Amino acid sequence: MSHKFLKLDDELYEYLLSISLKENNLLTRLRQETAAHPLAEMQIAPEQGQFMALLLKLIGAKKILEIGVFTGYSSLVAALALPDEGKLIALDVSPEFTAIAKRYWQQAGVDHKIDLRIAPALESLDYLIAQGESGSFDFAFIDADKANYYNYYQKCLELVRTGGLILIDNILWSGQVIDQNIQDNRTKAIRLFNEKLHQDNRVFLSSISISDGLTIALKL
Ligand code: CA
Repeated sequence: MSHKFLKLDDELYEYLLSISLKENNLLTRLRQETAAHPLAEMQIAPEQGQFMALLLKLIGAKKILEIGVFTGYSSLVAALALPDEGKLIALDVSPEFTAIAKRYWQQAGVDHKIDLRIAPALESLDYLIAQGESGSFDFAFIDADKANYYNYYQKCLELVRTGGLILIDNILWSGQVIDQNIQDNRTKAIRLFNEKLHQDNRVFLSSISISDGLTIALKL
């Protein structure tokens, strides 16, 4: 067996969850509700959510950014991991999807921590920079339209403090990143983003194969 990776078949994946996942009931319900959605694949996996919560606790995050909310699983995970005075600024363009998110934030009693801004995320990020918020965030999670990944990353790098984290989702893109027959704009954007990030000396990074691939960049 290769020591580069361990193939997670369904049985081993269920085992992994059975010995590690501690999922809040509302997170489970939200995951189940979202599973019926046509775009359900946009939801992060539960073990990834828990890993992100671990990172938030590890760095003592209090002020965080999320780009791409969808139905709110990752924002609910994050809000539950934040202290009561913590703040999550969540950016999305869809009132429809985020209506589901808001319902769960309220039920979980964490909606006071979440500031949802419905607008193109680049505009919201520029607004935060213009408001003097550069260097004030502990953490950012990028999981939105892939064509803008590098633009989102650049703005997050401005907004996150030294020692803060930027997480980028879907960096393996179901394996399509290495299939040169696939040349659609989203796949090309992710490839280019991955290459640029690897050359970027402003961050220390690690990419892991959890779920659809996740890069963790620490701002130096
Ligand atoms: Ca994603």
